[in-house]
Amino acid sequence: TQAGAAPYLAQLNDMQRLAVESLDGPVLVLAGAGTGKTRVLTTRLVHLLSTRRAHPSQILSVTFTNKAAREMKDRVSLLLGMPVEGWWLGTFHALAARLLRRHAELVGLKSNFTILDTDDQIRLIKQQLEALRIDDKKWPARVVLGVIERWKDRALTPDKLAAGDGGDVAGGRVVELYREYQARLRALNACDFGDLLLHNIAIFQQHPDVLAEQHRRFKYLLVDEYQDTNVAQYLWLRLLAQGQNNVCCVGDDDQSIYGWRGAEVGNILRFETDFPGAKVIRLEQNYRSTSHILAAASGVIAHNQGRLGKTLWTDAPGGEKVRLFSAWDGEEEARLVGDEIETLQRAGRSLKDMAVLVRAGWQTREFEERFLQLGLPYRVIGGPRFYERMEIRDALAYFRVIVQPDDDLAFERIINTPKRGIGDATIQTLHAYARANAIPLTEAVLRLVDTDELKPKLRATLRALMGDFGRWRDQVGRIRHTELARIVLDESGYTAMWQADKSPEAEGRLDNLKELVDALDEFETLEGFLEHVSLVMDVADNADGDMATLMTLHGAKGLEFPVVFLPGWEEGLFPNQRAMDESGIAGLEEERRLAYVGITRARERAYISHAANRRMFGSWAAAIPSRFVEELPEADVERMHDATAHTHQDRFSSGFDAWTHSHGLSRAVKSPARGVGERPVVLDGRAYVTERKRPEVAYRNGERVFHQKFGYGTIVWVDNDKLEIDFDAAGRKKVMDSFVVPADK
Ligand code: ATP
Ligand code: MG
Repeated sequence: TQAGAAPYLAQLNDMQRLAVESLDGPVLVLAGAGTGKTRVLTTRLVHLLSTRRAHPSQILSVTFTNKAAREMKDRVSLLLGMPVEGWWLGTFHALAARLLRRHAELVGLKSNFTILDTDDQIRLIKQQLEALRIDDKKWPARVVLGVIERWKDRALTPDKLAAGDGGDVAGGRVVELYREYQARLRALNACDFGDLLLHNIAIFQQHPDVLAEQHRRFKYLLVDEYQDTNVAQYLWLRLLAQGQNNVCCVGDDDQSIYGWRGAEVGNILRFETDFPGAKVIRLEQNYRSTSHILAAASGVIAHNQGRLGKTLWTDAPGGEKVRLFSAWDGEEEARLVGDEIETLQRAGRSLKDMAVLVRAGWQTREFEERFLQLGLPYRVIGGPRFYERMEIRDALAYFRVIVQPDDDLAFERIINTPKRGIGDATIQTLHAYARANAIPLTEAVLRLVDTDELKPKLRATLRALMGDFGRWRDQVGRIRHTELARIVLDESGYTAMWQADKSPEAEGRLDNLKELVDALDEFETLEGFLEHVSLVMDVADNADGDMATLMTLHGAKGLEFPVVFLPGWEEGLFPNQRAMDESGIAGLEEERRLAYVGITRARERAYISHAANRRMFGSWAAAIPSRFVEELPEADVERMHDATAHTHQDRFSSGFDAWTHSHGLSRAVKSPARGVGERPVVLDGRAYVTERKRPEVAYRNGERVFHQKFGYGTIVWVDNDKLEIDFDAAGRKKVMDSFVVPADK
């Protein structure tokens, strides 16, 4: 073809070029990490356009994340020199939503349907549980929703299920509930994420004309990360591909890491059967990593059974071995990583070239602490920074109220968390009273619990809560603050709230809470810790600057960084104990694929580390290096700093110095000490506005007054700001004077 001379084709090897130029019929590019699968897809898109095989509107390109879609758009528009907005390039959900808007009426929706978020979904499920009189303590809405979502992943609509499916979830009525839930969604002109694809599939199956229209439109389909598609995504694709049969999927069975979310690696293994006449192209040259990194990754993944097996090679000369180090504990691990990042930075590397990839979200905390101490800018991708996570903010709010009873923001945050039956109306009553009297909320509560302004049940609840706070406050300075923190989280019911929550995130939140208590241990007092946190939170998040990246291994799929740190390679942590407990050998193999994904993100340098002592979830344990460490081929690894080779006492002197010297890091360890009390605790930057108390009204016995809630009445007793009133309709009550106005005579 003419395009033979095209410069974009010159940037490909022969096999990649074959994949790009095999335009007709199904194509599967099955290849290991870094072999240019994504580059093939992008180039193929450009090629289709340059050779005028298709208009932009005739190509459907599916990526795994919005970020990946953005990157592909940027790359294509760079190669073509034209904007790509409005093209059919995005995630499964984004594309399916766009198609559904056009044909919504066919599934009983209007084109302006709402897409619900998780909170909305939970609320709906709760209502259904109530309607069916199913105890939501026993079957929390999140658990029920989880079951329904996994069914949706597998394209199982209610009509495909039998009444008994779902076991005893929701008292054996989960299928019924699912059906009701779908009916409700339709009535609300809404759908959830899973429905986007399922509605598409239903439309395509029931309306051949609509499907035919898609077939005419989409001449070419391109799909990245095919190994992580679930059944619903697969069915959707296959329906769309049936028309012109020009589908090109790229993937790597060794990088299938979303099995827990319904991904079916079988989809990639079955490609040739599903798409008869498919051309399967294998790419073997890795362009991303140097040879030791690649060999290390291949060595680890070779321990998995049931792989397709692939050859991977690189001609990148030499390169460095994977650096393996063992730290004394997590804190030292974070320090060594931080120091190494600074050294590399001084040697001229940008921070954006460096990433720390962790197995679980709670692990970012120690790195964040260290980076903040060093003043090293970082961003956490795929989630909030540690101290900004919901459960951490809740816990901190409890601590803040203990230390600072006037902290209204903190108090309001937790007054009904966990649920205590304190609703918005009550909170407004408290606010109104506090404002009127220029007192903090906690003070308002203390005064109001002795009156009839609040219902007896609420009074009892609030009295108990204030009692709790009083007791906790008394303990400050008497018992160790970490102990106090644990007591507060337990006695408040906060820990129990997450324990009762069976959602997948709940365990991560509990882990984060334990990590928070561990973090506290590094400070002398609760105040000192809160001070530290307020300083930490103060650091502006300027998203565009040069920053190191912290993220989970799952989030890092498809990405690459010149320097990658892989900490916490310890048994139980990685491979993750839960994954192994829940799915046995399959779980372990998915963990190993995650290790493979991790190592293969690195272009030039990879650091793998483990700590000899890990304080995980409140208690110290001697940690055993991950089996994945043992699986690294010896020849590709360079052992450095080994904490276990030294006694605790000399690790900072000889051990650490020897290591730092041998790596040109003769800098003193920065002191973590931060002056306590340098500045007051900042409460979300909120300035306290004290309103003036309105002019006192002196009430007298026998006076007629009007109360917002109880109506007219006569004062029978006055005690400072408290009044006892004989209400005409409501009987005798104690109320606060600020809720009362003199009755018009
Ligand atoms: P992953 O499995 O991690 O998603 P991948 O197979 O999609 O990896 P790409 O991200 O497309 O791989 O490519 C990896 C790196 O190699 C990128 O930096 C890409 O630009 C580069 N690359 C790919 N093919 C070539 C080539 N023929 N010549 C030079 N560089 C290439
Ligand atoms: Mg890729």
